[in-house]
Amino acid sequence: MTTTLMTYIGPVDDHALVTRTGGVPLVPAGFTWPRCAACSGPMQFIAQLLVNAPGAQGAEAAAAAECVLSVFMCQNDPGLCDEWDPGAGGNRALLFPRAGLTPAPVPTEGETLLSETCGIDCTAIDAVPYHEARSNWSQTYGRPLRDVLGQLGGAPAWLQHDETPACPSCAQPMSFMAQLEEGRDHRTAMNFGGGGCGYVFACVPCKEGSFLWQC
Ligand SMILES: [Zn+2]
Ligand SMILES: [Zn+2]
Repeated sequence: MTTTLMTYIGPVDDHALVTRTGGVPLVPAGFTWPRCAACSGPMQFIAQLLVNAPGAQGAEAAAAAECVLSVFMCQNDPGLCDEWDPGAGGNRALLFPRAGLTPAPVPTEGETLLSETCGIDCTAIDAVPYHEARSNWSQTYGRPLRDVLGQLGGAPAWLQHDETPACPSCAQPMSFMAQLEEGRDHRTAMNFGGGGCGYVFACVPCKEGSFLWQC
């Protein structure tokens, strides 16, 4: 059993089509920057994940299955917008086909971007669960635990109880796509309540994404 860790590889360009935290989201034509249901301010873009839909057969299907998951969370009034909740409207996870994306126009008001753009490398570690893979990686490479920025796929390592969301379109349990740590530097990190983790889900057939965090 392996865990695919997302580890910090240094700064990357704000517009790079790579898996990263921070920077500017790459979006399809007609994109509207998500706004918070509670405070109506523009959300903060926190992460872009390059993912593949499972089960795609053949080159055409595989190309169609190449997606980008973009995660947004309100930080205009931290703690007051139910931004941890998958259904309250204080965050969004958007699933886009990977082809033809361009950098989004960034709203001029509100807390919209993180102050650091972190490149992410995906490394398969021969250990489960996640926290064990994380400490194995840290020991093997002599790097701090904080350089592990999360995991891609696998099984969620819940800090509280299992909160796997149901797809808003088909009502099936959504697929776990990634777990996010707050970040390697507290000055530029995401805010998941202080030491929390974010959890990203998707229903690829319905093109739905979902996000929540626990601490
Ligand atoms: Zn808000
Ligand atoms: Zn669905």
